[in-house]
Amino acid sequence: MDTRTLLEWSAKHHTPNYGSRAPICLVRGEGVRVWDSDGREYLDFGSGIAVTSLGHCHPRVTGAIQEAAATLLHVSNLYHSPPQIHLAKLLTEHSFADRVFFANSGAEANEAAIKIARKYARETWSDDRFEIVATKNSFHGRTMATVTATGQEKYQHGFEPLLPGFKHVPYNDLNAMELAIDNRTAAVLVEPIQGEGGVHVPSDPYLAGLRTLCDEAGALLIFDEIQTGVGRTGRLWCYEHWGVEPDIMTLAKALANGVPIGAMLTREEIASVFTAGTHGSTFGGTPFVASVALATLTTMIDEKIPERAAQMGGYLMERLGRLPSLGVPVKEVRGKGLLIGIELDGPAGPVVDACREAGLLVLSAGDRVLRLAPPLIVTETDCHRALETVVTALKKVRT
Ligand SMILES: *Cc1c(COP(=O)(O)O)cnc(C)c1O
Repeated sequence: MDTRTLLEWSAKHHTPNYGSRAPICLVRGEGVRVWDSDGREYLDFGSGIAVTSLGHCHPRVTGAIQEAAATLLHVSNLYHSPPQIHLAKLLTEHSFADRVFFANSGAEANEAAIKIARKYARETWSDDRFEIVATKNSFHGRTMATVTATGQEKYQHGFEPLLPGFKHVPYNDLNAMELAIDNRTAAVLVEPIQGEGGVHVPSDPYLAGLRTLCDEAGALLIFDEIQTGVGRTGRLWCYEHWGVEPDIMTLAKALANGVPIGAMLTREEIASVFTAGTHGSTFGGTPFVASVALATLTTMIDEKIPERAAQMGGYLMERLGRLPSLGVPVKEVRGKGLLIGIELDGPAGPVVDACREAGLLVLSAGDRVLRLAPPLIVTETDCHRALETVVTALKKVRT
């Protein structure tokens, strides 16, 4: 099938919500590289959207997929299955949490977090304690509850009425948060670094300040680590950078290196309100996906992949930081580990396109931010090449 026909069929048969897809068909991947249907090679500095952190077709991940597919693909949560048990145990041994609920996506993990926070607040305090305070410019997903939690109107427009019981305050503003929290607040929901909203890293006291405000008010603190988690920022969990533990954490994107999964992790006391029958999922944590996540997470931990992310991120940030003084049109470089945002003085779209045409896949985050999120196994040589391509693209788009 030739590429042109494929693209025509895509335009004809899909709902048009991904109208701005790049005009290429990707057919194969290996490590940090992918190939399109015309045989062109690209350096993948998006990892999907911060998903394939171990790179494409990592042997341990592929091995787990093959073995699980030939052993037991699916059983429902009416039964126990070993991979799911091992995965929950591993996640709790390596995080603040005592218990895990498995879902299939980030939005679903956040749904579970919102539901458990509301139920906990209701049972611990009162029936009118159900509010979730989230932040402006955040991203938490596309389901009705999570799009309501998302602090960006562009994702909500046309889908009203939104859910009651959500408030938004500016990110990285402890005063605004203090004013918003009261005895109706069930939980505060934040990304430890805002991803989709433009890669915004909070100032150092922010997360600790949120922890204190929540403790004083009896509200729960939820960290959405769907993008920042599983090594992306140079630590296994982003909250480790500031030593601030949440009550609830959500994961998804990189957790099974590309196989769809979501997880909601929490402490014993909070987990206890999810009593038998209160929540569930048909697909959540099947033996297949749990095996793949287990292979992904063990590889991350065994091979100290987060440390690599910190190293490579440091290298990239240092080089990118020099660009403004070299006359390259860059306003600011932000991020941690291998979640990097480059704020431009104009739209990011044309730069993303120019990079792709030069063989480099990168992301945007918001209108004016170029986002780099390569696989965490990326080498210095790859980073060097990507930097050169980005600089050339920036200069080309500018002139
Ligand atoms: C991607 C993302 C989500 C939504 O995940 P889906 O799997 O697309 O539902 C939620 N929160 C954050 C921070 C994300 O980056």
